[in-house]
Amino acid sequence: MAEPLNKPDLLPRTLTLLGSTGSIGCSTLDLVARNPGAYEVIALTAMSNVALLAEQARRFRPRMVAIGDAARYQELKDALAGTNVAVLAGPQGVVEAATHPSDWVMAGIVGSAGLWPTLAAVRRGATVALANKECLVCAGELFVREVGKFGATLLPVDSEHNAIFQVFDFDHPERVEKIILTASGGPFRSLSREEMARVTPAQAVKHPNWSMGAKISIDSATLMNKGLEAIEAFHLFPVEAGQIDVLVHPQSVIHSMVSYVDGSVLAQLGSPDMRTPIAHTLAWPDRMETPVNRLNLSEVSRLDFEQPDLERFPALRLAREALQTGGCAPTILNAANEVAVEGFLQSRIAFLKIPQIVQTVLERMGTRPLRGWDDLEQIDAEARSHATALLG
Ligand code: NAD
Ligand code: MG
Repeated sequence: MAEPLNKPDLLPRTLTLLGSTGSIGCSTLDLVARNPGAYEVIALTAMSNVALLAEQARRFRPRMVAIGDAARYQELKDALAGTNVAVLAGPQGVVEAATHPSDWVMAGIVGSAGLWPTLAAVRRGATVALANKECLVCAGELFVREVGKFGATLLPVDSEHNAIFQVFDFDHPERVEKIILTASGGPFRSLSREEMARVTPAQAVKHPNWSMGAKISIDSATLMNKGLEAIEAFHLFPVEAGQIDVLVHPQSVIHSMVSYVDGSVLAQLGSPDMRTPIAHTLAWPDRMETPVNRLNLSEVSRLDFEQPDLERFPALRLAREALQTGGCAPTILNAANEVAVEGFLQSRIAFLKIPQIVQTVLERMGTRPLRGWDDLEQIDAEARSHATALLG
């Protein structure tokens, strides 16, 4: 999948961070700051957090910044007065920033809003560190085809996929029996359906092991995140859908595994800190030092595993079915889920309504192939409009 970087030994490597103010973006900049001289930041983008974006720009001195919310253009411009950082705004501004040449791009925008900027980086043949799983879920083969066509390199940032990337034998994919995605089980792993019916957004965003943005935290609580990750894995690695297993592992120490025909199971382990997989992609094909807590297995003392419960967590079942169905099903699943999660975060619907809305939209829209980019935009919009109507 991934070819070596053109100039692996030439530093500084130039970087673009899409979603620099988010959890992934901030962790990336933390690593950049710890390695002075190794990386040069070219562009930073965010949706609405002007104060943080301006602070990052003053510190890392990119050539440009882009703010997705065009109404905040002047505020950002004022905040950067006296610097020579160019200011862009609106969705087009974010795409323009992604288009500007740089060696490496962090795709750290949340949701399918990240699709066009990430695609812009892919289409200039960049090395793209992919955190934004939704863009791969919603565009699937269309996205992967562009990666091949433009000679871009995709490096998985999602901890599970980064783990698999580290232990997958790309020279002998036919020797791989299964990939096993581990899942923490989220904050409601042991709750009954009755208890889940009453959970609040504040409880749902509190992940037991990882500190993440709101949307992925809710996805982790419904287990939709693991379903999105199964679809993501299908597109990133040369395996069939039936070769992708999910295993609940509450300690989040084993980040995922690959099992081979000889009975070997290779795993990548580490403390649950996204700076490890991000560092792996920042330094790839080399490695770099990070300040993450070193894994102390005698302190962890035990590792537990269990099968995911598809009755209590129907979102995972829906995502697995969408992967099997193919065509536009993952696009619909992703769009309906984004709307439902936003509805839950705004306290418009109850937690258990999230998978119900996704299921209803999938049933209403049925299946058909995903024919191209226009088709994708239409299906995505249609799914959003059905889901929005179901928010009540
Ligand atoms: P976050 O909410 O903390 O940050 C999202 C970033 O995207 C912010 O910078 C925000 O300004 C920007 N953004 C949001 N909407 C935008 C829009 N419409 N246009 C332009 N920019 C927009 O999210 P996060 O937790 O950093 O997650 C980012 C992505 O990485 C998600 O796809 C998530 O699934 C994936 N991911 C995150 C983690 C994690 O630990 N946080 C782990 C694995 C994968
Ligand atoms: Mg993950």
